Amino acid sequence: MPESRERRMIIRARTVVTMDGAPIEDGAVVVSKDRIADVGKFDEIKRRNAGEIIDLGEQALLPGLINAHCHLDYTCLRGKIPPQRSFADWIRAINAEKAKLSPRDYLASISEGFVEAKRFGTTTIANLTGFPELIPQVRAPIRTWWFAELIDVRMPDRASEIVDLAVESLGKTSLARASWGLAPHALFTASGNLYRRCEEIAGRENTLLTTHLSESGEEMEMFRDASGSLYEFLKNIGRDMSDCGNETPLQHFLKIRDSSTLKDFGARSNKLWLIAHLNELTESDFKLLERSRGKFNVVHSPRSHDYFKHSRFPFERLRALGFNICLGTDSLASNENLSLFAEMRAFQKEFSGISPEEILQMVTVNSARSLRHRNALGRISRGFRADLMAIPSNERRNLFEAVVAFDSAVDWVMVDGKIERVRELACSQPCR
Ligand SMILES: [Zn+2]
Repeated sequence: MPESRERRMIIRARTVVTMDGAPIEDGAVVVSKDRIADVGKFDEIKRRNAGEIIDLGEQALLPGLINAHCHLDYTCLRGKIPPQRSFADWIRAINAEKAKLSPRDYLASISEGFVEAKRFGTTTIANLTGFPELIPQVRAPIRTWWFAELIDVRMPDRASEIVDLAVESLGKTSLARASWGLAPHALFTASGNLYRRCEEIAGRENTLLTTHLSESGEEMEMFRDASGSLYEFLKNIGRDMSDCGNETPLQHFLKIRDSSTLKDFGARSNKLWLIAHLNELTESDFKLLERSRGKFNVVHSPRSHDYFKHSRFPFERLRALGFNICLGTDSLASNENLSLFAEMRAFQKEFSGISPEEILQMVTVNSARSLRHRNALGRISRGFRADLMAIPSNERRNLFEAVVAFDSAVDWVMVDGKIERVRELACSQPCR
């Protein structure tokens, strides 16, 4: 007997990869409005539910992928900046490219990026933007966390004002499926006051925070040794360099937040952070990480990492310390496309001992956890948001391997219970 009179959709696929237990052969997912109402074997699902059946055939149905770090502002910079001699040179190069762009270019770039991300099966994105005032003009076709990227390197005395203006812009956005957060860009471009102001607001508004930390060897050189090309570059543009020469970037990050207004700093505030990169860590950094309560989330961007030839990402050690590790694409100023499948493959190439299932977790359950949506996104489970995608599959034995190996556009995507892309693979029939 049907459990409900609500209009339901039963989506059947050869395999349903729930990320919530073993994959289900000849499985089906019931979608009611924007939620997953049921999941199981097709036979059983048919007995328990009534509704239109959409049979995807020889496909694997998966949770939509979640990109934990991206800058859609720079989609239009794809292929524009070849790898540079130094990280400082790359910053110079991207600044030169950015100087040529208008708000209209950025809007086009963001829209193009959204379309591309969705085409690769991404249904949620943590997107940093330097232009929060443009957000109301964007129609995001996937679930989006908008992080205002904040820089005060040329005017550190205006830190609070810069943050407050961004919060005002973000507050004006009332887009469906959207949430917001703050992104002090990096320790070398954002002051301690800017970081503290962001934490204060995040504590008050219960929003997320993200930043770039310990990305390059030059960042380590700058903060620890007060030398190197990034140090020289920033000194030349007038940054106060008195915070350099004593600590590693991680030590500095923890110290500037010591006077944070979040009372139980260290536990609660750490969980609000998605830390991008963390490639450069010393032994004393690892000791600090070992002791830290409330571990923050770490986002690795494998292909951007390769582009910059950064030090090896310390995946195994961070994982062993209990950090939640996710994957992101970063921007197309250091990557070739917005495919998380390609990120999974790049990760697999570097960390061959890690199972494809664990790699898939880094773009589903782990990323959902980093966005504090572990009970709503990243799995196919009852009550979760109906964000799904399907890819061709006739694999039984090496299913997860085949998922990671998938390297074309995704034909079928559902966001919030709405099928947004269908090619001629579905056949519908009434169910009784
Ligand atoms: Zn980034």
